[in-house]
Amino acid sequence: MVKVLTIGEVLVEIVATTRGNGFLEAQPLVGPFPSGAPAIFIDQVGKMGTACAIVSRVGDDDFGQVNIRRLAADGVDVSGIEIAPGESTGSAFVRYREDGSRAFVYNIRHSACGKLRPTPASGALIDSCTHLHVMGSAFSAPELGAMVMDAAQRIKARGGTISFDPNLRPELLNAPGMREALDVVLAMTDLFMPSGEELFLFDPARDEAAVIASLLGRGIRTVVVKRGALGASLFQQGLRLDAAPLPVDEVDPTGAGDTFGGAFLSLWLAGAEPSQALDLANAAGARAVTRLGPMEGTSTRAELDALLAERKG
Ligand code: ADP
Repeated sequence: MVKVLTIGEVLVEIVATTRGNGFLEAQPLVGPFPSGAPAIFIDQVGKMGTACAIVSRVGDDDFGQVNIRRLAADGVDVSGIEIAPGESTGSAFVRYREDGSRAFVYNIRHSACGKLRPTPASGALIDSCTHLHVMGSAFSAPELGAMVMDAAQRIKARGGTISFDPNLRPELLNAPGMREALDVVLAMTDLFMPSGEELFLFDPARDEAAVIASLLGRGIRTVVVKRGALGASLFQQGLRLDAAPLPVDEVDPTGAGDTFGGAFLSLWLAGAEPSQALDLANAAGARAVTRLGPMEGTSTRAELDALLAERKG
């Protein structure tokens, strides 16, 4: 049976309920909401009914439990989340500005997840999972990057598959060793899911068709480009599909890409038709932005089917 693994940060997000420039004045907050890109992604995989697990590390506090309980309830194997006595789970405070951009205050520098290292539980999951989802941001921390690379090589060597979401802020690209690591991961990748500009990370040519042809020529089976409020596109050898965005009221865009990715991967692994996988993932991304809180908009297959049916009218 296919089992999907991802490795990385779990934190909580606390969100301001009014728009403004930051946190200089007191204001109503909501949360804590479970968060962390790998956590949002794997929660969506779990909700699709696909066997999956996450390797992470939290403090022995309520913020860690908020995540563990949500992920477990949604079908994610949480045996690889280490609970560190006396340490704290990371948190982020977010406020949307009037223009829709986000102001953050992070408390993650000393979080439990920063000391994520291999454990017997993480080793057992790497040995039992058949697919690894890699997020490029993992390579901004040397120890986490090494764990992810080791897992990718072990799972690939056993005949497993790799999906890759660069998930990178541009300033992280120049971190030591980042470029080299991303190149190694890309060479192992079966399913590549960049967002917007990330498509051009490995190829300075600004011609999308040429970049896609080069990626498919390197042995990547499927490339899916996430285009935010413009929808998404899928490319395989000899195939291009475009999904128009579903019309929705955007409340909170955080997590849309991870939700899209989790839905798409589940369907791709199950051998769904490319057009069906793209449409359902596009619906998952659209549904994600309608909910406040990064993981609050993950969806079951039934919810995605209902959204598509409603939009087709
Ligand atoms: P990321 O969070 O990785 O930048 P995107 O913002 O591109 O990802 O969102 C992922 C997907 O979610 C998009 O490709 C699209 O399918 C869907 N999506 C995102 N924003 C909207 C929106 N405002 N309306 C409809 N669909 C959206």
